[in-house]
Amino acid sequence: MIRAFWITLMRFWRKYRRKLGLFVLAVFMIWYYDCLPETLFTNPRSTVLLDTNGKLLNATIADDGQWRFAPCKKVSPKVAICLIEFEDREFLSHRGVNFLSLGRAFIQNISNRKVVSGASTISMQVIRLMEKNPPRTYVQKVYEILLATRMEMSYSKEEILAMYASNAPFGGNVVGVDAASWRYFNRPSSQLSWSESATLAVLPNAPGLIHPGRNREALTKKRNRLLKHLYKEGIIDKMQCELALAESIPNRPLRLPQKASHLLQKFIAEGRRGQTIQSTLNIDLQSRVTRELVAHQQFLAHNHIENGAVIVASVKTGEILSYVGNVERADGSNESFVNCANAPRSSGSVLKPFLYAKSLEAGIITPKMLLPDVPSKFGNFSPLNYARTYDGFVHADDALAQSLNIPFVHLLNNYGLGKFHRNLKQYEFNTINRSSRHYGLSLILGGAEISLENLTNAYTRMAQEVNSGKSIGIHCDKMDKQEAVPSRTNPASLYEMFEVMTNLKRPGNDHHWEFFDSSRKIAWKTGTSFGFRDAWSIAITPDYVVAVWVGNADGEGRPGLTGFQAAAPLLFRIVNQLPSNGEWFKVPREYQSTISLCPESGLRANEYCPEKVRSTVPTSCLERSACSYHQQIHVDPSSTFRVTDECVAVFEMKHPVWFILPPINAQYYQLHHPNYKDLPPWMDGCGVNSSRHNFYLRYPTNNTRIQLSRDLDGTKGAIVLEASCRNKSTTIYWHLDDHFLGTTSTFHQMSSTPEPGMHRLTLVDEVGATQTILFEVIR
Ligand SMILES: [Zn+2]
Repeated sequence: MIRAFWITLMRFWRKYRRKLGLFVLAVFMIWYYDCLPETLFTNPRSTVLLDTNGKLLNATIADDGQWRFAPCKKVSPKVAICLIEFEDREFLSHRGVNFLSLGRAFIQNISNRKVVSGASTISMQVIRLMEKNPPRTYVQKVYEILLATRMEMSYSKEEILAMYASNAPFGGNVVGVDAASWRYFNRPSSQLSWSESATLAVLPNAPGLIHPGRNREALTKKRNRLLKHLYKEGIIDKMQCELALAESIPNRPLRLPQKASHLLQKFIAEGRRGQTIQSTLNIDLQSRVTRELVAHQQFLAHNHIENGAVIVASVKTGEILSYVGNVERADGSNESFVNCANAPRSSGSVLKPFLYAKSLEAGIITPKMLLPDVPSKFGNFSPLNYARTYDGFVHADDALAQSLNIPFVHLLNNYGLGKFHRNLKQYEFNTINRSSRHYGLSLILGGAEISLENLTNAYTRMAQEVNSGKSIGIHCDKMDKQEAVPSRTNPASLYEMFEVMTNLKRPGNDHHWEFFDSSRKIAWKTGTSFGFRDAWSIAITPDYVVAVWVGNADGEGRPGLTGFQAAAPLLFRIVNQLPSNGEWFKVPREYQSTISLCPESGLRANEYCPEKVRSTVPTSCLERSACSYHQQIHVDPSSTFRVTDECVAVFEMKHPVWFILPPINAQYYQLHHPNYKDLPPWMDGCGVNSSRHNFYLRYPTNNTRIQLSRDLDGTKGAIVLEASCRNKSTTIYWHLDDHFLGTTSTFHQMSSTPEPGMHRLTLVDEVGATQTILFEVIR
């Protein structure tokens, strides 16, 4: 039975052996062709951040706890020679396997009855690394040979060597020559000496045994043997060899630089984990800025101000040169891990210059136009100036230089909240993501949150727009190609804005601040958020934008945490370290016009303006009406009373020109302008009801609807009724729905808590002049 089966089998074999052989060969060929995976190495990688010149700024350990950088494309020449000479001298000539040394190793292993030599080529070792070091068996060896030969068909020698160098173990948890070079020598592998290259080349051979922190003698011997071999082969000369032998081998692995941790984390958050990213940062500037921030924070620490962030950007290239997201602390205390450079924080006043430029562009103001600066109410919003004082009227540029709140709320109200909200979006303030109504007019006083990055980007764009009429914004990835977009704001308005921003008083040299080069022209602005939670400052020159935020990441406010006191000193210390060629923005003449201005009102001069100055302003300012404050009035011969032709003959009248402001503004304006003269009173019986002009009701105005707020304890809040008088001695008698409320003199404010419904408010002065308005209180 068995015999019959055997005969049948042999017949079958004789008949089909050719076909069977071909079939097996075909199966093998298909397997062989397809035996390599598409990607040989899929191990997790460290995320590595390089500076603009390829210097290492920061790296994180890979997810599997190994220091393994992204694979290199080419091994640096010295390391390549050392690896080849140490591991596989025939590497460049064989096709993946060296049969001669394989045979020699086989005999050696047999006679020693143990494995003394693997005779693996570098190519075979790449396969072993890919297979994650399986046990060494003969079957495994054959498998490695097959895959190595197959790999040689698909990859160049350079690529294979790079794969080996990138994935070989270099002791401890260091994988790959690049990570090893930084961990042991604090330098990229391209800058290693012969001795250092040789040290690295011998490490993968027995990484568990030889580690620079241990077995130093064994490692030195191995390195020296390789160096002497290099000399024998004529690769290095005698002098090089002796110098290399004299070098000591490294100690324990070094800590990798941590110079831009917050930027690295930002890249990781953007999905760049495991990549080697070449940034635009300059490592030297980054180090200097970090040192300045740390020193400055130590100065602020006594006031429990713990965090800060700085960004420095180049205007010309849009490249971020320095990005320090926080004061780093090894123990992570005081929220030092928070990236304060892209955290949304209340903007304080840092957006005011932008509104100034946009208002110039829209022709709403001229650089020196008067803006109201009096106690003001916008619905339920009553902004206050920082100093709680009022100037009555203030020139727009002075309002910006002094960062006054009330004039800027008026300006935003005139310019249009929705329009300004859209402008901010155009300049990529992406954290302003609620409707304009949500922010209201407080948008210009810090009602919205922005990040230091947003701020740097917007002002860099504006500086670029003045420089070249287009902008590219900022970026920190060297490979990130930015597209230029046409200017979003008229360059002349921006130029004017920067000019005004140079007029701010700089921090003095008290508080141990260093001397600031006050001759250098710098546009700058500070900002302080409500409750002293955020201190901002930003400086702009044609070359650089520097932005600083200081505060507590947890949002705690501190007294003295203001842009001027806490952020500006650091800003100027950094600005002063940047090179300057003394140049300023090119004047955008094509967008400017020269006109005759009234210096008092800042508007185009009219025929009565006593002084006229030729001024160059953005052409859009021509849209503003002419000065309306200088008017000709008619007075009696003694210049005591205003008159009309009803009581004084025209030829007897005098016709002086008067600077006339609305009463409420005049009341405050004359506190700071002693030369301001009130209008003369009307002559009695001159046919003009003089009292009608003497006072006017400021709040509420006719037909206003008012919603009473409730206090915390649930009681109804009061409304403050307000009037203003031209004549200081006037007394006003207040009546609400025929109930007498009281009298006021000098400052005319009256508090009241009317019930919901319609009300009639009547004001009477001592000469019987009356004004009545209606208003409604709603629930
Ligand atoms: Zn005028």
